[in-house]
Amino acid sequence: MNIRGIQKTSLIDFPQVISTVLFTGGCNLRCLYCHNASLACNDCNLQQYSNHEVLEFLHKRKHLIGGVVITGGEPTLAKGIIPFLEKVKETGLKVKLDTNGFQPQVLKKILSQRLVDYIAIDIKTSPEKYPVLTRTKLSFDLIMKSIALLKEHHVTFELRTTCVPGFVTIEDFQGIKERVGNVMYYYLQQFDNQHTLDESLRTVKPYPKDVLYSFQQFVKTFATICEIRGL
Ligand code: SF4
Repeated sequence: MNIRGIQKTSLIDFPQVISTVLFTGGCNLRCLYCHNASLACNDCNLQQYSNHEVLEFLHKRKHLIGGVVITGGEPTLAKGIIPFLEKVKETGLKVKLDTNGFQPQVLKKILSQRLVDYIAIDIKTSPEKYPVLTRTKLSFDLIMKSIALLKEHHVTFELRTTCVPGFVTIEDFQGIKERVGNVMYYYLQQFDNQHTLDESLRTVKPYPKDVLYSFQQFVKTFATICEIRGL
């Protein structure tokens, strides 16, 4: 699974669930604001954990936690993700998967086997700005396919956007609304300018609260619940 990091306990990564967080190495994007550059780039200096030791660790902790969060990097790129998720499910723990949504073919397998309980998909910005913010030429249509699969399989999911000044504006949320349509949960995340992959963003000031509140009001026109994280 290429697990490159473990956070023993988290109270914030899985809604209403105390969790252990597993970080996979490697990502198909290079978001300018990424705070996990060493994970995204699969830095060989990062520790690597075998599936066996991670599963043993989860078995030992299952009386202390309710779930496991698998994040990255981009976990759907990890070879062997399906058998690994099958093993995690055998522990009886709930599973949350964080993904950028660009691998609907993997998501489809995961969903059809009911291997996850909750999914978070990043919506980085409007489709037009994706190539600049994420340095990818991958099509936004792939994310739309992923969202369609989530709706089809009736799995609980959230969409989330880190509000990077200049790259995420009210016009971008209009573009997102036009593509994504109505959803249940949408989270806005405050931008943090520390340790960004692109150094030029380290001098960019996060939006003031009132701007985030105005985004929240707009997002509530297409999301039943919209909350802000990181304020
Ligand atoms: S999707 Fe973007 S923010 Fe997430 S790990 Fe990859 S490069 Fe970093």
